[in-house]
Amino acid sequence: MTTTLTGSCLCGQVRFSSDGGAQMAGHCHCIDCRKASGAGRCTHVVVAEAGFTLTGPVRRFDKPADSGAIVTRVFCETCGSPICSTNERMPGMVFIRAGALDDPDAVTPGMTVYASRAPLWDRTDDSVPRFDVMPPEMPV
Ligand SMILES: [Zn+2]
Ligand SMILES: [Zn+2]
Repeated sequence: MTTTLTGSCLCGQVRFSSDGGAQMAGHCHCIDCRKASGAGRCTHVVVAEAGFTLTGPVRRFDKPADSGAIVTRVFCETCGSPICSTNERMPGMVFIRAGALDDPDAVTPGMTVYASRAPLWDRTDDSVPRFDVMPPEMPV
């Protein structure tokens, strides 16, 4: 997972790219991800902020995660598509929404977090390690 990743919102006005490629990817079934996505999970792709560029009209929304850390979600101000988020306790990293990628199969999710909160209609990915909430080493 070291190639350049590109993606966009639904209306196409917001585009992004990541030079460094994905450091990791994973599913999150937390309540915030469910509400923010309108789906059973967000699938996040972790990239370095240094190689990440974003163009187009976006809005940002700040909300504390369960940990208390402020998570800033970035979405297209025209069509509302989720683009990415950042976490104040993980500086230098950007969490791209895998569904916004031009090629969603350019990344391979490696874990599931907040599996205990997955709705019955969105079964967790059994092919990767699952955590009931967040693994203790992750501050998000
Ligand atoms: Zn848009
Ligand atoms: Zn989440």
